[in-house]
Amino acid sequence: MASKPRMRFAPSPTGELHVGNARTALFNWLFARHHGGSFILRIEDTDESRSALSYQMNLFNDLDWMGLDWDEGPQKNGSYGPYKQSERLDIYKNHLQKLIDNDQVYPCYCSEDELEEERQNMILSKRMPRYSGKCRNLTKDEKKLREKEGRKPSYRFKIQSQTIDYKDLIRGLIKFEADAIGDFIIVRSNGMPAYNFAVVIDDHLMNISHVIRGEDHLSNTALQIMLYRAFGFEPPLFAHHSLILGKDRAKLSKRHGSVSIDEFRKKGFLPEALINYLGLLGSSFTDGREVLSREEMIVDFALERASRSGAIFDEEKLRWLNAIYIRNCKTNDLVGRIKPFLEQSGFKKEIIKSEWFKKVIDLVKTDLITLADVENHINMFFDDKYILSVEAKEILHNDKALKVVKAFAGYLNNNEAEPQNLYIGAIKYVREKTGAKSKELFVPIRAVLTGKIQGPELEKVFTILGKYEALKRLNSFIV
Ligand code: GLU
Repeated sequence: MASKPRMRFAPSPTGELHVGNARTALFNWLFARHHGGSFILRIEDTDESRSALSYQMNLFNDLDWMGLDWDEGPQKNGSYGPYKQSERLDIYKNHLQKLIDNDQVYPCYCSEDELEEERQNMILSKRMPRYSGKCRNLTKDEKKLREKEGRKPSYRFKIQSQTIDYKDLIRGLIKFEADAIGDFIIVRSNGMPAYNFAVVIDDHLMNISHVIRGEDHLSNTALQIMLYRAFGFEPPLFAHHSLILGKDRAKLSKRHGSVSIDEFRKKGFLPEALINYLGLLGSSFTDGREVLSREEMIVDFALERASRSGAIFDEEKLRWLNAIYIRNCKTNDLVGRIKPFLEQSGFKKEIIKSEWFKKVIDLVKTDLITLADVENHINMFFDDKYILSVEAKEILHNDKALKVVKAFAGYLNNNEAEPQNLYIGAIKYVREKTGAKSKELFVPIRAVLTGKIQGPELEKVFTILGKYEALKRLNSFIV
């Protein structure tokens, strides 16, 4: 690559960040980092009725959380700002003037209702709906008359007959015939620039070298290339990746379940796992590797491996990856990440901070799939949260099991030692005294100590509970 790429992510802050858009951000970020280029964040907030500041703040937060840092953009300096479209309106105005001066645009006075009627008529007469060009050749007087009626014009780009072709970095040669496209609006009647107009000016002025985005923008690219030509600007290189689909192969949306980064964070997914999963989705890494850190993805990222067909979102696979990342997380770090989930469920701060609690997390972390799962796995260590499950009750409803539990409690009552030795001694004693082995021996003890019939290593559970807590549970059961 001749010079360092300049990549951008250009979201419209009209909702929570969708995993599909996050994946677009990730691809641009990986490409920039792989080639030592820049990653620019631009906020496309010209649709005033749908954009909200809170969405913008959440977006910054989500990108931060995922570790997708931007080199230029809001909250950062950069020589190509401002980086919010709402602060660039003068720039768009000047560019509109250039096209007006070159007779490449015209004012259109048609109202929404008139345009809708025209559309419906075209559909009825089985023609492809597109703007008829009604205002393209208005005389000066006709324009004046419409202005007198109080009509505010939008500006439409005059399509010239031409073939638009470009080489997409994922899809190969793409061709469009301009004749199939109607004159399109570049500035709305409220003076705000339309997406296709603003994006061309910004990508050009911000010196963007590559645009990676979803294939839903393919037809926009045709319009944008016409604008690049009209301005005499060199277009960037384009790459249109496939979209994320639900299991029914429809575009992933709320009706499929969780779709926003915020939802996945609240469900207890780690950003490392989510990023890894989005990097894999509809793409691949060398040797079929599936578990990759951010740094490994940067080294191995190749746009050529992005698939052209839609990628089906599989939350099970994301859960599988999440469990791996949790397991590999250092316990201290994991406790910090789990904290908000536990505080929400009423666990005390002092306990979460304690050394004892670290031992608890160390013990259960291999069983966690999400951070939100933690409560279920640690309840057994807290008196007020410990409950005997139905299965545990069933196991204990048996004379032999009861004998095992009594013998275990008896040994503890009569002996003192370090918890680990005490446990080993008690088990040996119960085995000799009752003749119980393996399951018959361990399951009843586990059932009383934890309230469950399965779980982490019993010896460790006992060590963490300690003799007196264990005895309390055993005694309350025996009596
Ligand atoms: N604001 C547009 C969007 O969020 C940007 C598309 C593009 O990358 O050009 O869809």
